[in-house]
Amino acid sequence: RIVTGELQEDDDTTIELSLRPTKLNQYIGQHKVKDNLSIFIQAAKMREEPLDHVLLYGPPGLGKTTLAAIIANEMGVNFRSTSGPVIERAGDLAAILSSLEPGDVLFIDEVHRLPRSVEEVLYPAMEDFFLDIVIGNGPSARSVRIDLPPFTLIGATTRSGLLTAPLRDRFGVLSRLEFYEVKDLCSIVERTAEIFNTTITKEAAIEVARRSRGTPRIANRLLKRIRDISQVKGETEISLQTTNIALEMLQVDDAGLDHIDHKILKGMIDGFQGGPVGLDTIAATIGEESQTIEDVYEPYLLQVGFIQRTPRGRIVTPKAYQHFGLKRHGE
Ligand code: ADP
Repeated sequence: RIVTGELQEDDDTTIELSLRPTKLNQYIGQHKVKDNLSIFIQAAKMREEPLDHVLLYGPPGLGKTTLAAIIANEMGVNFRSTSGPVIERAGDLAAILSSLEPGDVLFIDEVHRLPRSVEEVLYPAMEDFFLDIVIGNGPSARSVRIDLPPFTLIGATTRSGLLTAPLRDRFGVLSRLEFYEVKDLCSIVERTAEIFNTTITKEAAIEVARRSRGTPRIANRLLKRIRDISQVKGETEISLQTTNIALEMLQVDDAGLDHIDHKILKGMIDGFQGGPVGLDTIAATIGEESQTIEDVYEPYLLQVGFIQRTPRGRIVTPKAYQHFGLKRHGE
């Protein structure tokens, strides 16, 4: 699915990698986050210390992994990457941490999904760079202390609230990535087109940017499909007309919403007169997971003002009714 922002199987990993900027000044948008990080990186380098631990949070596809790799690159250290659910036991974490070189960046995606037992081992590692590992069990169990090289942990998660308080407290820098403005996404689309060795008209690039839910990964993915259609049509430059046709084929509407967004909104309108309705009820009605709705779909629907959260549940806004050309119940 285009909109999830998750990597799909048909993704060409090499292209995906070549699309990633490697320097902070090539990383488009997110000015506040970038400005802060740039100062922290500079200061850490002046002190010849590793950068403080960084937590990056925000919806999928906004550039957390990319930014983490850039930080390592700017610090001139190795970038090691793993993810929360992959580290099943404390021993797995110990193996990774003890293989780091001084100053290295360890990136843990979905850091909120680390098992609790692993998380507890991580606390002293983050704070004082040592591990306390229990070897054996029963009466013969003993605890071994392993000193670690100083390192920078960069954690990524969709919402900072998903982290336990003790883990969140151990990050010195907390940066929230925002949805991108159209002009920044437009620059990303033009940059990607260049990497693809193709050209796109300004108005077509703006259209892709406008309909990408503020998300670079979606913009890049849409552009890939649009490029296919443009190529088959024998265009020398991706036109606005082709872009519109392609986006319609991809079921991306004028506001950048896809069929799942439609299902969510229509489900709330048809089944619950626009709400208020609880997230779990919406999820059950349309057969999606509540976590996916909350992390992937809802943030953008909130951002564009199509739904609102109230203490009694989610409601569909008049703006969304207007988008569908519908009248609200009783109007
Ligand atoms: P996340 O880790 O937040 O899910 P990624 O870092 O994997 O997101 O980014 C998704 C894609 O979007 C990558 O292919 C990357 O090239 C592109 N991208 C993200 N942020 C930017 C940016 N600021 N400038 C250019 N490309 C970006």
